[in-house]
Amino acid sequence: MPGAKAAGIRAELDTRIDLATGLSIFRFALQREFFFQPGQYATLWLTHNGETIPRPYSIASSPSETRILEFYINLVENGHLTPSLWDPEVMHSLKSGREDASLAITGPKGRFVLDLNDPRDLIFVASGTGLAPFISMTRKLNEDYLAAPENSRSRTVRIIHGVSYSRSLGYRGELEALHLETQKNPARKLGFFYCPTISRPHLDSSWTGLRGRAESLFEDSPGDMTPNPLENAMREWVRDQLSPATHVVYICGHPGTIDNTVRILSARGFKPDVDVKVEKYYS
Ligand SMILES: Cc1cc2nc3c(=O)[nH]c(=O)nc-3n(C[C@H](O)[C@H](O)[C@H](O)COP(=O)(O)OP(=O)(O)OC[C@H]3O[C@@H](n4cnc5c(N)ncnc54)[C@H](O)[C@@H]3O)c2cc1C
Repeated sequence: MPGAKAAGIRAELDTRIDLATGLSIFRFALQREFFFQPGQYATLWLTHNGETIPRPYSIASSPSETRILEFYINLVENGHLTPSLWDPEVMHSLKSGREDASLAITGPKGRFVLDLNDPRDLIFVASGTGLAPFISMTRKLNEDYLAAPENSRSRTVRIIHGVSYSRSLGYRGELEALHLETQKNPARKLGFFYCPTISRPHLDSSWTGLRGRAESLFEDSPGDMTPNPLENAMREWVRDQLSPATHVVYICGHPGTIDNTVRILSARGFKPDVDVKVEKYYS
């Protein structure tokens, strides 16, 4: 939508964390408060060179942060908006408030949110930056738990994050810490299990964790790889424990991951929208 006008909240770059080439976390400071539910997205309207380009991005921050919004974004070469986010001049303008580039944010939008009345355990399946809404959900769930652990119901959250290389595992430290906290404290009523998986292990020699695309963990067979103990444990858990009676699955990111996971889970009785909820980033 080149030339579109943004009537949203003016935003400036607060912090940018570069994780890998073309993969960053952006934190934008807003001129006024912004309220949303974890899982929703906002539209970024970037104006540069006289052109305004809007694109939707899932919000990664917790809704308790109302004046800063965090986004987890990857560069799409030849894309319309993202190359500007990797342009140092544009970033400098967004940080300093210079007029040659500006950012406005509208929203929130989207129905990819947690159903607070659903007591089932949660499975989050993300590919790439599709992790963003699950970071917001995880932060909010954990904040609510820490505010009143005694009021929490017993629940587990499994976060499956598929990327090509381990260096693209954004938020790894934060999710590993929650995983470790759960392991150290089995009485913790809200348990987090972080399950990162990489699809190009042959190019990542130090990696000893789960291998394959996120959806492959739901399949009985590991394909042509000899499974490692972690993969065996994961598949055993999927085979013996995963059921729509006890679990609701949220999937976000690349269309292939979403379509394949939905197909595999449908064969196991998971119904779209009821037991499996999806957010596609592009088609
Ligand atoms: C609800 C929603 C939430 C989203 N949240 C995020 C988010 O949190 N983080 C994020 O990085 N992106 C997110 N996206 C994608 C984002 O809106 C843009 O599509 C993406 O950043 C590319 O924008 P662009 O203008 O640079 O490229 P465009 O000019 O829009 O796209 C160029 C081409 O690249 C394809 N494409 C779009 N996204 C990708 C991608 N990630 N990888 C490979 N090819 C792609 C498109 O199909 C298109 O053909 C979300 C999309 C939706 C619908």
